Amino acid sequence: MAGNRIDPGIPATPERDRLTGVLVPVRPLDLSVEEVRQLWSFIHGDIMDGSMRRLLRASLGLCPRHSWAYAVVEIELWQAGAGVRGGHQPFDVTVLYEDLLDHVADGLDRRSSLLLRRPDDVLLPVGPCRICEDMASPALPGLRMGYANSNTEALTVEANGLAHTKAWCRETLPLWRSRTCPDCDPGTPEGAGDPVLLCRFHLAARRPLPERLRHAVASRLRAIRKRVRHLTESMTDYGAPVGAEENASWIEAIGSFAGWGLPLYLAADYTEPGTEEDSQGAGQRD
Ligand SMILES: [Zn+2]
Ligand SMILES: [Zn+2]
Repeated sequence: MAGNRIDPGIPATPERDRLTGVLVPVRPLDLSVEEVRQLWSFIHGDIMDGSMRRLLRASLGLCPRHSWAYAVVEIELWQAGAGVRGGHQPFDVTVLYEDLLDHVADGLDRRSSLLLRRPDDVLLPVGPCRICEDMASPALPGLRMGYANSNTEALTVEANGLAHTKAWCRETLPLWRSRTCPDCDPGTPEGAGDPVLLCRFHLAARRPLPERLRHAVASRLRAIRKRVRHLTESMTDYGAPVGAEENASWIEAIGSFAGWGLPLYLAADYTEPGTEEDSQGAGQRD
């Protein structure tokens, strides 16, 4: 609906951010009740539906904040499911990212042509984040209720606790820590790090991308997709259990699209069991 103004205080996608959005800082998400309400009902919708799938592909999923929030709400609030964990797992999220990883990898591998969009334009979303858009539309009385009248305030407290998301991130930390986007990681000096690991935002900022880099990023995304696919299957009745590589894959997938703010925050004060003695941190004793 044209002409709607975005309310102040709502995570917005104003014009200036339309192409690249705003990355999530390295701190808690602190979701609002309204965000949890919207995401909870989004999770109950059908993202496999053809038209929804096309919209989500065009917008490359949700904005960074709502990409992570989507995973958090599903992981924290979904109590029952198939697979060894039986719940508290990112099923909808992995289904979506299988599609998005494929879509972006194909785009990056495309041959350049004068007539078509540049291959690296696939890194730019066409269309807004659904959740931002729904939050900005005028309040509809029917939609003020939580999904199936669930108590959204209690659900918001639970989601913001991040208990299960934190467990996933910490459990898989040794795998994803060396694969984070160097430009998202406050610990990496500016301009250092492997450009193949850059997230979608930081890659987009470096366009036009050299052809070699485009193809290298496409293979990285395909490798993640393969592991995401196994993870999705493991959360169904017929799938085999997966290992740590697959368990880390959804974090890598969202990190590649939405930046690494949330996992870096969740891992920040964490010392892996057995590594309490920080042999490299000498000199910071005061
Ligand atoms: Zn959003
Ligand atoms: Zn980044």
